[in-house]
Amino acid sequence: MTTNDFSAARPTPRHDPESLSPATVSAGHGPGPAPADLLRRLRARGAGDPVTHVERVPARAGVPAPWPSWAPAELQAAFTRRGVVAPWQHQVQAATLAYEGDHVVVATGTASGKSLAYQLPALATLLADPRATVLYLAPTKALAADQLRAVAALELEGVRPACYDGDTPRAEREWIRRHSRFVLTNPDMLHHGILPGHAQWSGFLRRLAYVVIDECHTYRGVFGSHVAHVLRRLRRQCARFGATPVFVLASATSGDPATAAGRLTGLPVTAVTEDASPRGGVTFALWEPPLLPPDSGATPPDSSSVPGQATGDRSSAPAPGQASGDHSSAPAPGQATGDHDDLRQVRRSALRETADLLADTVAEGVRTLAFVRSRKGAEVVAANARRSLDDAVPGLGDRVAAYRGGYLREERRELERALLHGDLLGLASTNALELGVDLVGLDAVLICGYPGTRASLWQQAGRAGRSGQEALAVLVARDDPLDTYLVHHPEAIFGAPVEATVLDPANRYVLAPQLACAAAEAPLTPADLVLFGDGAKEAVDELVAAGALRQRPTGWYWRHRERPEVDLRGEGGAPVCVVESATGRLLGTVDGGSSHFLLHPGAVYLHQGVSYVVDELDLADGCALVHVEEPDWSTHARDVTDLSVVSVRSYVDAGPVGMFLGEVDVTSQVVSYQRRRIATGEVIDTRPLDLPARELRTVAVWFTLSPQSLALAGVQSADVPGALHAAEHAAIGLLPLMATCDRWDIGGLSTAVHADTEAPTVFVYDGHPGGAGFAERAYGTASAWLRATRDAIAECGCETGCPSCVQSPKCGNGNNPLSKPDAIRVLDVVLANLPE
Ligand SMILES: [Zn+2]
Ligand SMILES: [Zn+2]
Repeated sequence: MTTNDFSAARPTPRHDPESLSPATVSAGHGPGPAPADLLRRLRARGAGDPVTHVERVPARAGVPAPWPSWAPAELQAAFTRRGVVAPWQHQVQAATLAYEGDHVVVATGTASGKSLAYQLPALATLLADPRATVLYLAPTKALAADQLRAVAALELEGVRPACYDGDTPRAEREWIRRHSRFVLTNPDMLHHGILPGHAQWSGFLRRLAYVVIDECHTYRGVFGSHVAHVLRRLRRQCARFGATPVFVLASATSGDPATAAGRLTGLPVTAVTEDASPRGGVTFALWEPPLLPPDSGATPPDSSSVPGQATGDRSSAPAPGQASGDHSSAPAPGQATGDHDDLRQVRRSALRETADLLADTVAEGVRTLAFVRSRKGAEVVAANARRSLDDAVPGLGDRVAAYRGGYLREERRELERALLHGDLLGLASTNALELGVDLVGLDAVLICGYPGTRASLWQQAGRAGRSGQEALAVLVARDDPLDTYLVHHPEAIFGAPVEATVLDPANRYVLAPQLACAAAEAPLTPADLVLFGDGAKEAVDELVAAGALRQRPTGWYWRHRERPEVDLRGEGGAPVCVVESATGRLLGTVDGGSSHFLLHPGAVYLHQGVSYVVDELDLADGCALVHVEEPDWSTHARDVTDLSVVSVRSYVDAGPVGMFLGEVDVTSQVVSYQRRRIATGEVIDTRPLDLPARELRTVAVWFTLSPQSLALAGVQSADVPGALHAAEHAAIGLLPLMATCDRWDIGGLSTAVHADTEAPTVFVYDGHPGGAGFAERAYGTASAWLRATRDAIAECGCETGCPSCVQSPKCGNGNNPLSKPDAIRVLDVVLANLPE
């Protein structure tokens, strides 16, 4: 965590002007209503009771510990000046392990003081050894800048902390390499800048005592697998210079952090998980927006809708047996996810509900933070809340603002300050706040839509509650199978451990390019192959066969003049730039995987509330030319997906049901788009597109059923495609319950007969080359996963299927065909046969 840790690290309130201690926070206004009273008033507003469950999370007293004897007096004094009277027990425990040379991960709650746990041993070492250095890695530049501020504020002689990232002026870089002893950077800079330039960094790396990896739970999936190898490359360079740094990792609360940290670093890591910081009690309510009356089908699209988001078509049914594909490419940053523009609203939108709740809490004088998943959603919530407040009391709307990633640091600081001092009472934010900003101790937190993992949910809810005072947290369910399931299954939130961070360093699509980078830095030796782990030898052989490496008696050498080009975060191709043709202005970028859906010629593209139409998508140059235009239609791309099984890794033969894990090739092509009237949803026309097909070799989980078992369960053969398709959508929606993924990380395909399985089949695959571990997780928990899927569908109050159960916001087939009752029958057959 970051600077907010200081506030949590003090047992008694102090008067540091920058602190978030209760004494400072409550100076601006009196205590709000008790959470139970507040909740009672909120739920009494509408007709029915939207609250499905209330959980009391008890307060926890802090357990302080004495400063460790090895921490120099100078350092203790510096922390004391910053308001830390005494550390908490978990901080001392982790710090001492690290000081004694153990690799350690501290995995505790929001604002529990994780930064002290690594600052203490790192800074004590820098003070004791005037030559030692520390490398700090954060997932974002903003977090590194926050941490720099915290370390600099300690004013320790000779430490000279400095950020070294893409924004660092050339002129300062050499000074930092030579003189800074506490360098703060990110994995991308380590990968692109520091490791390739290791010769210039030799002095720093030779003396490296600690590597700090902050927010290490963010290194998951394919990105996490890349970072794992960047860290192995770092360890290799350090070893060449004779250094063996100690790794200290900080993680949000997560399942089995020692294993995840061990996979990330390749080292044995000890976990400290007992949180000894104090916490106020929280009343946590699960909130399901009410169903709209049946005649409201013509409700105009929600103001949050994003035309251009792929989906939707009810007019052209695919021929029976045709596969229904659901593409897995992530939406562009800033595009709303899951705020459906074309699916009939069955429940009141979570955004509107959250906006109303925000207005109500602010009207009560309660300092409230609302988390919204998309940038646009955050703006919509803030705008709606402001409007309702101004209607009630003119001027009151000024006390609500929106906040999102991408703001300048000064703007962020100003918003934080205003909220902490009570000038602002309500803030609607994207989850940018999760990444280390000084906002804790709020009276209420509203969470609009399940954030994808219990770990994130607790991080967000952790912003509520000052010590000694009760706070309120509300999870507002979106129209989504997972959200619906969760608000009706509180045990899945409150009774389950937080997820483990999933990454797979053995992914050969990551391993081979990383080994190429390593070889370009220094020839690979057989010992290095041990360092890079399972599959390294095979990957090196592939690189030799491909002509990228040459084997000599002394090792494997990179053969090219240029360095290999590897992007840690790049998936599905390089990002595509969106350029306004008239001015040449760069509006933004869309990741390569989404570009065919969002930027095809004729697509309506929204950017910061302004509507553009795409003239041309130049795939060779990676740019789309657009012009400003606000047509009264939206565009919806459609694709066709083909999938073939490459190999089966593992399977369960369960009579009429088969469950499989294996490698597949997925080919998808965006073939056409529809134009639809925004006001009515009426289809104007369908236009063909001429875009190339794209291939993905990845890992999938799939199940097959015998046609006889389906017939026996009462599924008519004509309904099999709709049954499988509906089951597939819901299964994708529920997978984040089992794996640390987002439904946008996963794709699916269902078919009444598949050429490779020769049976009715539902495939769910990782949307990342080589797989990311999600399908594997689904396979490992198949019966629990499909049980939850079945229950989510069966328990949804709709009649024929809705976004809360079987409709998908990213369906490549326009949510057609779908059969909700038959999907339940399909899953019942699977569950009846599959062993637990
Ligand atoms: Zn439903
Ligand atoms: Zn679909």
